[in-house]
Amino acid sequence: MQNLKTSIRYLKGIGPAKSKIFSKLGIKTIEDFLTFYPRTYQDRSLLTPIHRLQVGEVQTFVGQVVDYKGKRFQRKGINTTRLILSDGLRNIALLFFNQPHLKEYLPVGQRLVVTGRIRRFGHELQVTNFDYEILSQKEPVDTQRIVPLYPLKEGLSPGTQRLLRRTMHSALDEYLSSIEDPLPFQLISQHRLLDLRNALRTIHFPESFLEMYAARSRLIFNEFFFLMLALGQVKRSRGKMRGIAFRSEGRLISRFIASLPFRLTNAQERVIKVIKTDMALSRPMNRLLHGEVGSGKTVVAICAALLAKEYGYQIALMAPTEILAEQHLLNLKRFLDPLSVRIDLLTSGVKGETRDEILARVARNEIDILIGTHALIQEGVKFGHLGLVIIDEQHRFGVLQRATLFEKAQQGGVYPDLLVMSATPIPRTLALTLYGDLDISFLDELPSGRGKIKTFCRSEKDLPRIYDFMKERIKEDYQAYIVCPLIEANEELGLKAAKEMFEILQSGVFQDLRLGLLHGRMNTAEKTKIMEAFRRREIDILVSTTVIEVGVDIPLATLMLIEHAERFGLSQLHQLRGRIGRGSARSYCILLTTLAISNLVNSEEDVEPLDDELSKAVKRLKTMVGTNDGFKIAEVDLELRGPGEFFGVKQHGMPELKLGHLIRDRRLLELAHQAASLILDEDSTFSNYPLLQKVVKDYLEMRQESSPRD
Ligand code: ADP
Ligand code: MG
Repeated sequence: MQNLKTSIRYLKGIGPAKSKIFSKLGIKTIEDFLTFYPRTYQDRSLLTPIHRLQVGEVQTFVGQVVDYKGKRFQRKGINTTRLILSDGLRNIALLFFNQPHLKEYLPVGQRLVVTGRIRRFGHELQVTNFDYEILSQKEPVDTQRIVPLYPLKEGLSPGTQRLLRRTMHSALDEYLSSIEDPLPFQLISQHRLLDLRNALRTIHFPESFLEMYAARSRLIFNEFFFLMLALGQVKRSRGKMRGIAFRSEGRLISRFIASLPFRLTNAQERVIKVIKTDMALSRPMNRLLHGEVGSGKTVVAICAALLAKEYGYQIALMAPTEILAEQHLLNLKRFLDPLSVRIDLLTSGVKGETRDEILARVARNEIDILIGTHALIQEGVKFGHLGLVIIDEQHRFGVLQRATLFEKAQQGGVYPDLLVMSATPIPRTLALTLYGDLDISFLDELPSGRGKIKTFCRSEKDLPRIYDFMKERIKEDYQAYIVCPLIEANEELGLKAAKEMFEILQSGVFQDLRLGLLHGRMNTAEKTKIMEAFRRREIDILVSTTVIEVGVDIPLATLMLIEHAERFGLSQLHQLRGRIGRGSARSYCILLTTLAISNLVNSEEDVEPLDDELSKAVKRLKTMVGTNDGFKIAEVDLELRGPGEFFGVKQHGMPELKLGHLIRDRRLLELAHQAASLILDEDSTFSNYPLLQKVVKDYLEMRQESSPRD
C-alpha cells in the first residue's frame, strides 16, 4: 500500500519548482493534495463549432492547426506566436507568449480542444487566455468536460490550474487504489454514501454536477464524522482523567444567595445543582453554560467559584476583553467582598511590581479568584492550587484555544474543572453538535421582573423627539448608550463617529447632561475610569463604539440609540441590545437608519425592496423590532447570511474543515453526529474498527499540534 503521508515531492513529475508551488498552497503530502478540493468548476463539456463562436463568451471548441501566422512580433521582450486553428469553415487565432518551440510541439495538422474567452481583433477571432489539449483518445483533463478550478494564492499564474489538474489526474490514477475507506460498510450503505475512492475521483473530475454533489456530500460527511468521533472521544477520555472531587457543602453559596437582592430563577437553581453534582465527581467538569444575554450566567459562575473556594482551591476567570474582565472584577467584588473572597485582576494593563506581586500571591494561594483575559493561562501564570477555570463569552475563544488552555491548566496530572459560558444564540441542535466535547446546560429563562425591552426603528427626522425622550428618562435617573459604528469621522463613508457625536451632543442638545466617550482605542485605564463613572451614575449618556457589545452590565442603563443600525449584523445588534433591559424598568432600544429603510421596516406589509442588501437590512431590523428571542434571531441570521458568515462561525474555532460548513451542511453534521455517537456508544475505543482507530488518532495528534488562534 502506498503511503499517503509521503511528501508530494515523490509524485511523478514534481521537481523543486513545482514543489514550491505546492508548498505555497499548503500542500505537503499526497493526502493534502488529494484533498485539495476544487473551489468551483467550469462546464467545458459542450463543444461549439468555431464558426458559431460568440464573441465575449467563454466557450470550448475543436479545430485543426492550419498555420502559424504573421510575424513573430517582439514587444518588451515578449515573443508572441499566433497559432491558427480551423474547423474548415472559419479560423481562430490562439496567442501564445514566449513559446519558441511551439511549432514542433503542435505541428500543423494537429487537432486541439480549446476553452477560452473569445475576442475579436479586426476581422480575426482570437483567444489569449485559454486552456487547450491535444485531441486524443485519452481521457480529457483540461477541457471537453466539467473541469475543476482550484483555489489559487496570489502570485501563482493561471497556468497553475493546468498543472494542478494534470498532476491531480495522475495522482488519482496512482494513489486512489491504495486508499481504504475508513467508514464501516454498514454506514456507507445505510446513508447511501459514495465510497471514498469514487468520491475523491469525482470531486476532482465529475462527469456531471449531480455526481459532484454526491461526492461532496460523502466527503463532507467524512469530515464531520471524524470531527464528531474525535470530539466524542476527547469527551469520553476526559471522563477518565483525574480531576478534583469538590466535596463542598455549599456554605458559601448559601450565604451568597441569601445576600442577593433577588431570587434565583428556576433555571439558575437547576443549573447550579447540576454543577454542584458535576464538581463533586472525581473527573474534571467540562461544561458549557449556554444562556441568553441577561439570563444571569455570572451568578451561576460565582456559585461554581464558591464551591471551589470552599474546598480550598483557586479560580481563574477569563474574559475575552479587558473591559469585560474589569467589569467582572467590579461585579464580583461587590458580591464577594462580604464573604471575604480575595479577588484580583491581571490584564496587560497591570505591569511592573504590581504584576509581580499579584503573580507571587497567586502562586502562594493568597488570591482566590484571579480575573483576566485568556492570556492568564496562556502566559503560564502559576497558580498554587487551581481548581476551576471559568471562561466567559467562550465563543470568542474557539475550540482549539479552549483545548490548549485545558492542557496548560493541569497540575501534576490533575485537571481543574472547566466552565465555559456563551450567549451566542446558535440553534440548539447545532450547539449540541458543535460543542460535542462538552456537557451543556441551558439557562433558558430570564429573571422575572425584568423590564421589557421595546425596540423601535426610526430615522434622522425623529431625532429631536428621541433626544427629548432621552432627556426625560435621564431626569428620571436612568442612563443611556449611544452606539456609533466608527470611532473617528470618515468623510467617505459619511458615517457618524463616536468622537464627533460625543462633541456635538455634549456641546449641543445634551449640554446640561454628563456625557462619556468610550472606544477601543482608549487605553485600559481610561476605559476603566469611564466605565466606573458610568456605573456610579456620574455619566448620563455613554457615547461608544461596539466595545460595549459584550458582557457590560449596568442595570440603570435603559436606553440605547444605535446609529446607522442598518450597518450592523443581527448578532451584533442582539448583543448590543443585551446591554439594556437588565434592571426592572422598561428599556428602549432605538435603531436609527435612513428614512427609506425605516419606512420599510415599519410598514405592515411585506414590501420587497429590489436591492438585495437593502432587503436584508430591512429584514434584520424588522427582526430586531419583532423579537427579543436570541434563538429566533439566530435562525433569521442563518437564513440571511448563508454560509461562511453566520455568527462568525470561524470564531467557533473549529479545526479546519476543507469542504464542510457547519451551518450550510448542518443536516450532514447531524447525521454524522448520530453516526459517531452510535459507534462511540458501541465501542468507544474502536477495537472493532482498526481503521477508524488510526484515523481518529491521527486526527487528534494533528489537533494538538495546531496552535491556538485569536
Ligand atoms: P449574562 O447571562 O448576560 O452574563 P448577567 O450574569 O450579567 O447576565 O446578569 C444580568 C443582570 O441580571 C445582572 O445585573 C444580575 O445581577 C442580574 N440577575 C442575575 N440573576 C438574576 C435573578 N435571578 N433575578 C434578577 N436579576 C438577576
Ligand atoms: Mg455575562
